[in-house]
Amino acid sequence: MIPTMPEQEFAVSSLMDITERPEIVFVKGQGSWLTDHRGKRYLDFVQGWAVTCLGHCPRVVTEALAAQAAELITPSPAFYNEPSLRLAGLIAKHSSFQRVFFTNSGAEANEGAIKLARKWGRRFKGGAFEIITFDHGFHGRTLATMSASGKPGWDTMFAPQVEGFPKATLNDIASVEERITDRTAAVMLEPVQGEAGVFRATVPFLRELRALTKRHNCLLIADEIQTGMGRTGKLWGVDHTATVPDIMCLGKAIGGGVMPLSAFIAPARIWEVMIPNPIIHSTTFGGNPIACAAGLAAIAVTLEEDLPGQAAAKGAFLLKELATLQARYPQVLTDAHGLGLLIGMEFPTDEIGYACAAGLFKRGVLVAGTYSKARTIRIEPPLGIPMELLKEMLNRLEDTFKEIAGAQRST
Ligand code: PLP
Repeated sequence: MIPTMPEQEFAVSSLMDITERPEIVFVKGQGSWLTDHRGKRYLDFVQGWAVTCLGHCPRVVTEALAAQAAELITPSPAFYNEPSLRLAGLIAKHSSFQRVFFTNSGAEANEGAIKLARKWGRRFKGGAFEIITFDHGFHGRTLATMSASGKPGWDTMFAPQVEGFPKATLNDIASVEERITDRTAAVMLEPVQGEAGVFRATVPFLRELRALTKRHNCLLIADEIQTGMGRTGKLWGVDHTATVPDIMCLGKAIGGGVMPLSAFIAPARIWEVMIPNPIIHSTTFGGNPIACAAGLAAIAVTLEEDLPGQAAAKGAFLLKELATLQARYPQVLTDAHGLGLLIGMEFPTDEIGYACAAGLFKRGVLVAGTYSKARTIRIEPPLGIPMELLKEMLNRLEDTFKEIAGAQRST
């Protein structure tokens, strides 16, 4: 039973704004659906910004949480706890890395990776500290991760910011080569730039980048915070290229989309540089049992139900259908691209993108913007979304396109 709550009960102005929020309050989530305080249901293609890979409130995760909550919630990262040991073991088994460091948000995991790379540069490369990152990349909202991000203006917005993040151009190996020097400790990238508008690092580029970083004795850091846990059709985004980075950063879906959980992971040979003083990166809630219990349940379902395989097949279906819609409504949709269930739809102008998001909202479908505001709209449903819901969303999308095309004709 969903409560109907009077508007005045919500003191919305007490929350600091992060964006313009619609005038609804969500009170329930189940699978692909969210329900607002008036009882209206929405097909959710935002999924917490690509977090809830298993959909909202997946029973397997909520049950694991309830069971763990009755046992042990947070003893401090200075002590071992069983769920974090088991989850670290599972992540190690399904990646090329032996050491897992648990944190609470994507930005925090990336900060850890940046510190690890700098420590490595100091120990093994004569004090190298620079980390080459990419124009339009996104790595978080702390000072260092904003500096690492390539969003225009982010490197100076809170100046003075953290130095040492020269920017190269994605899929242009020469631009990386030009920036690599003795000061370069690492190169860091997203296998698919999500926030920028869903742009993929190509297979040849990633392979050349791996070879280049090896030749110059620098680390390669993959920010898999959005692309990990099956979203792109493989367990990790780098698996599409059979490239093995030196450090990987995980977040969003690794807590089952239910708990804030993230991690950076590395081979033992790299983690050793933090010894004897690993505490220089630590966090009070890092690896707490309840978040790790959610992560354990999530990774088990992801593997058992082959969610990466499902994401690959459903993503291919969506892209094919979107290409058909693009052919029918070229004045509305100019492109659709992506990998697995991380897909960007491109519009000729911001206005048309906004009209599309608003039309979908009116029809009960939620979609996410990107850096480019509404020129690119992201769709990122749960990986196990039933086919009939994908088709339902496509029907509502076509109705929206029809309406926009009609309005264009009449002006
Ligand atoms: N890195 C990538 C690739 C992301 O997509 C995000 C968030 O969208 C982050 C880092 C930051 O994660 P968080 O918002 O959990 O700090």
